[in-house]
Amino acid sequence: MSSSPKIRIAVIGATGSVGGAVLDICKRFPESFDVVALAAQSNQDKLFSLASVHNPKKLCLTKPISGKFKTEGYDCLTGTDALCEIASDPDVDHVVFASSGVSAIKALQTALKEDKDVSLANKESIVVAGPWVMPLVKRKDQLRPVDSEHSAIWQCLREDHKREIAKIWLTASGGPFRDHTAEMLEKVTPEETLSHPVWKMGAKITVDSATLMNKGIECIEAMQLFGLPADKVGALIHPKSQVHGAVLFIDGTMKMLVSQPDMRLPAAAALAWPERLDLVASGLDFIRPEEWDLHFREIDGSLFPCFSIAFKAGQMGGAYPPLLVGADEAAVQSFLEGMIPFTSISKVIEETLAKSASASPETLDEAIELVSTGESIARELCKKWRHYF
Ligand code: NDP
Ligand code: MG
Repeated sequence: MSSSPKIRIAVIGATGSVGGAVLDICKRFPESFDVVALAAQSNQDKLFSLASVHNPKKLCLTKPISGKFKTEGYDCLTGTDALCEIASDPDVDHVVFASSGVSAIKALQTALKEDKDVSLANKESIVVAGPWVMPLVKRKDQLRPVDSEHSAIWQCLREDHKREIAKIWLTASGGPFRDHTAEMLEKVTPEETLSHPVWKMGAKITVDSATLMNKGIECIEAMQLFGLPADKVGALIHPKSQVHGAVLFIDGTMKMLVSQPDMRLPAAAALAWPERLDLVASGLDFIRPEEWDLHFREIDGSLFPCFSIAFKAGQMGGAYPPLLVGADEAAVQSFLEGMIPFTSISKVIEETLAKSASASPETLDEAIELVSTGESIARELCKKWRHYF
């Protein structure tokens, strides 16, 4: 990168899978990035081990397990409010949101209000709080997507205008069960579900990738991030995960982003924008056609109903996206605990949305409350699963 001063980075969700990709980039380019704050939920050992590598000033655990979260040399913070303290710290230039769940929404708002650059991997926050977050974006590219498909679209759009977009597509590997039949899906176990063919990710998003809920949630994320109506957002199965996103412009031109499936690439694009880092990542070899497999197919909504449920929730807006996020959290947890089968995840979520449809939230707090409502209704349905479905 150019010889500008180091960018001072805070990473929320530092101990997770995306947090690891972001910190790997920071470690490789010490002349460009200075990690000044790291936050996680409760994984104290991993946080301290990351701190010994990156030497930040501030550490934060929002829910420390032991009462003794203190170490010489670091400013140790606890509680969810501390995330806002980090997001507004004058010694932070760029905040990375790589935590799971919805706890960092207020910190995301704070970072944008404080005019920080923001890299966003956490999709739940934009799905639940898009209407309260997006108006806070003051500058073009202040908010940079890290989710690989959205990063792809964002990179395709660098020089173009929203009014020139005819349609965008996100791709999906299709997960471990993309070639299963309905009968086979009835029997899949949590263990099989957690072995994703392409990406190594946290447990929740790995299950969401197998049900294709992740792609539905990502369509809502795209509607919010790029300000597009549902009919301009599509998704396709692309088993090789070489193309991550595509844009069709009104003149018929298409742009696609092709890269190896590696979360360090979108992380690097977001951290270093408007420059590119010299990652020496190999692209695809043009004269080795066996490396290329640009096959796409439609998502089968009857086999993967979570995709259609989520897409429809995005189309309807209002209370549906936050209810969906809460219901999915509870249904996935129950599946992983062996309480409900894989094919009931969609039934629980659909039933939760049908039972709890309510007026559109008028405030962010109401939207966040709807996540809890969706979660508790879905959890009750999971408990009664055998009698209910
Ligand atoms: P992981 O489960 O691997 O990691 C989650 C991280 O968030 C951990 O650092 C965890 O801390 C932290 N965390 C959870 N709750 C809180 C909280 N209340 N306060 C502070 N930190 C918290 O998840 P992933 O890295 O897979 O995913 C993170 C986010 O990025 C999700 O929104 C996911 O959808 C999105 N994403 C992930 C991709 C991937 O490749 N993994 C790709 C694109 C998007 P602790 O370890 O202490 O629990
Ligand atoms: Mg993604």
